[in-house]
Amino acid sequence: MRIVMVGSGYVGLVSGTCFADFGHEVVCLDKDPAKIEALRAGRMPIYEPGLEALVAENVRRGRLGFGIDLAAAVAGADAVFIAVGTPSRRGDGFADLSYVYAAAREIAAALTGYTVIVTKSTVPVGTGDEVERIIREARPEADFAVVSNPEFLREGAAIDDFKRPDRIVIGAEDARAEGVIREVYRPLYLNAAPILVTGRRTAELTKYAANAFLATKITFINEIADLCEQVGADVQEVARGIGLDNRIGAKFLHAGPGYGGSCFPKDTLALVKTAQDAGTPMRIVETVVAVNESRKRAMARKVIQACGGSVRGKTIGLLGLTFKPNTDDMRDAPSLAIVAGLQDAGATVRAYDPEGMGQARALLPDIDYADDPYSCAEGADALVLVTEWNAFRALDLERLRTTMAEPVLVDLRNVYRVQDVERLGFRYAGVGRASGG
Ligand code: NAD
Repeated sequence: MRIVMVGSGYVGLVSGTCFADFGHEVVCLDKDPAKIEALRAGRMPIYEPGLEALVAENVRRGRLGFGIDLAAAVAGADAVFIAVGTPSRRGDGFADLSYVYAAAREIAAALTGYTVIVTKSTVPVGTGDEVERIIREARPEADFAVVSNPEFLREGAAIDDFKRPDRIVIGAEDARAEGVIREVYRPLYLNAAPILVTGRRTAELTKYAANAFLATKITFINEIADLCEQVGADVQEVARGIGLDNRIGAKFLHAGPGYGGSCFPKDTLALVKTAQDAGTPMRIVETVVAVNESRKRAMARKVIQACGGSVRGKTIGLLGLTFKPNTDDMRDAPSLAIVAGLQDAGATVRAYDPEGMGQARALLPDIDYADDPYSCAEGADALVLVTEWNAFRALDLERLRTTMAEPVLVDLRNVYRVQDVERLGFRYAGVGRASGG
């Protein structure tokens, strides 16, 4: 199959590379020439474990290429995937579909034979209809179909998720298009990955429903954590106690500083807007959005409280800035709100992140960046573990404590055991734990 990926970000680059690895002939496009230049030189524009080697292997085998010339790539393609960004629109929080529609117009102009256009970007219900309308209007005679194929990969484990998905959702309105997409995913079908074929609108909504449900689960356990702190219970044990129930499941029950990243915040917001517009408001998701938003700032207050009620003139060290480990993605990371809250309260912030500091510098230009966790802690009045990178799981706490001005550890991911840390002389605050908070 000849496949074109329009947009070579986290989703487009990983999906395109994996399709090439399945044996298809793939061109990944991006309108950012610097990104394409880097990819052609073998440099990854993002940090994703295993990606560089997989790209190199498929480029070497001649199955994967990169370009900016959409017209040349789309002519003769069997399937053209749209994997451009759909950020929150300024003002109302609805998904900004301008990149998707611009891509649709470009694709329309370049179509040759029968082509399936696939929205892999997360798009609100009805976007596929609009993409079809745009293309039909531009090219009334073109032979094409528009399919929805939402992506469920997680950054940090993207390649494995793509190759071993829990399910593949195909929203197709006609059998011929469905056949093309089934062929694209055939290697996974042979691996027995469940394929759910459904209507286009249903597929579009399935993605939002999945993300909103996961965001709700996180927010639920975060509120239980707050209650635990007040009543002397331990959220990790509560989470285990409920997670062992198969109807609930153990995943996404880790209390922390609130969800962030490039998907949950914008997708929950977009779903809220879609539901309001449809006259069926989703009160639960509205509340999840509000609770999560206030939680991020509350984490700064938690640090302030751990420092005795004030951080004015104090230095706070942050370990981890990205919204989760194994990615360099800083979009909507809780660290952004935590830093703002601490700076507003008069603190100087210093931070270390294994992969995220490059991206962070643009968003957090006025904090100090350390070379490693130990220099981050040096002279600090408190150390805050924000992202649970593996590198932070086995720190030499003794060494850290001796260089800090005050031995205060705020562990927003509950990585450390209260007793171990307190035995070393730290004042410790975790999330939702009996003696934390
Ligand atoms: P991204 O911002 O990393 O990448 C988008 C890329 O598209 C950018 O490189 C941009 O330059 C390029 N682009 C925009 N318009 C273009 C055009 N007309 N032609 C060529 N290139 C163009 O975004 P992402 O994180 O990969 O997300 C893409 C979509 O996938 C979003 O809708 C997102 O919600 C969804 N999604 C993301 C994830 C994730 O973990 N990041 C997971 C599942 C779904």
